[in-house]
Amino acid sequence: MESPLIDKGHNSLSTVLQPWHVGVDVGGTKIAAGVVDTNGGIRVIYRRSTDTSSPQASLSSIAEAVEQAITESAIPRQHILGVGLGIPGLVDADKGIGIASVNLNWQNVPVKAALEGILGLPCAIENDVRAAALGEVRFGAGRGLENILYLSIGTGIAISIIQDGKIFHGLNGMAGEIGHAVIERDGPLCKCGGRGCFEAMAAGPAIARRAWSKIQAGRASMLVNPNRADALTCEEVFQAAGLGDSLACETLQEVGKDIAFVLQFLFLFYEPQLIVLGGGVSLAGQLFLDPIIKSLEQQAAESWVLAKVFKPQMIQLTTLGRDIGILGAAALCTPPR
Ligand SMILES: [Zn+2]
Repeated sequence: MESPLIDKGHNSLSTVLQPWHVGVDVGGTKIAAGVVDTNGGIRVIYRRSTDTSSPQASLSSIAEAVEQAITESAIPRQHILGVGLGIPGLVDADKGIGIASVNLNWQNVPVKAALEGILGLPCAIENDVRAAALGEVRFGAGRGLENILYLSIGTGIAISIIQDGKIFHGLNGMAGEIGHAVIERDGPLCKCGGRGCFEAMAAGPAIARRAWSKIQAGRASMLVNPNRADALTCEEVFQAAGLGDSLACETLQEVGKDIAFVLQFLFLFYEPQLIVLGGGVSLAGQLFLDPIIKSLEQQAAESWVLAKVFKPQMIQLTTLGRDIGILGAAALCTPPR
C-alpha cells in the first residue's frame, strides 16, 4: 500500500505551520527525497539520479534533491525541522559518517557535517534497512510498538532490530547482517565470499536461480523458453506462481521454508512483538508470505516453545510499500510520540 500523497493544493495555514521533515532514500542509482509530516504523510517526492563519480558529487546530488523537494512542497523553510538519510552500507549514525558503501563508492565520508554545511538544516544518517525499521514503528505495521524486527529481502537480506523503540546497532553497526549467516553448509557461493549464506539461498537473485536450476534439470514449467539463453528474474517466478505453475510454486515453498528456518531463530532469540517483512521481494505479497507462515505453523505445531513466541499474526508485510525508504529516513528526525 502506497502512502497517500497529501493534496498539494491544500495549503491551509495549519498544514504549512506544522513540523515537517525531509526523508531521503539514497540509492546507488537513484535518490528520492520526500517532505513528510509527523504522521508519515508525504507531501511531495522529488527523484533524481545519483552522481557517484565522487563522494562530493553524490553529496551534491543529495543536497539538490532535498532543495528541490522543499521548493516543490512550498513549505516555508523554517518549518522543515531536519533531514534524515537512509544509506546503503555501513554507517556510523552517532558520528554521521558513511563508513563504507559499495553502491555509493564511499569510504569514511562525513555525510552529516557536509550536508549540514550545504543545507543549513540538522541532518541524521542511518543504514537504509535500520532506518526502515524505525519507519515501521513510527508510521507502519509496527506503529506504537517498542520491540520489533524488520527483515528486508530484496537483492540482499538484512534485519533491523528495534529494541525499546530504538535501533540496536551492535559493536560496530553490523548487528542485523543476517544475510551472511550460513544456513546451508557448502551451499551456493555468496558475494561476501562465503557459501550457503541466507542471502545466497533466499534473496531475489537466489529465488530466480533456484527456479532456473530446476528448469536446467529438465523440469516442465511455463517459465521454460527455448529461445531464451539468460536466466530468470525473481519477478517471473512470482508471476508464474500466481498462475499456478508447479515449478514456481515449489520454488517459493522451498524458499519459504528457508526463511521460516531463520525466523524461528529470530522469534526464539528476541521474542519480538512483531516481525515485519519488507524489501523488493516482499512486494510479491501473499505469494511470498503464505509459504513462510505455513512452514512456521508446522514447526510451532511440533514445539510448544516456538508456539509460545510465534503466532501467525506476528509476521506482517510492510504497509509502507515503496515509500518505506523515504519514511524510514524521515523517522530518523521525527521524535517518538
Ligand atoms: Zn554471504
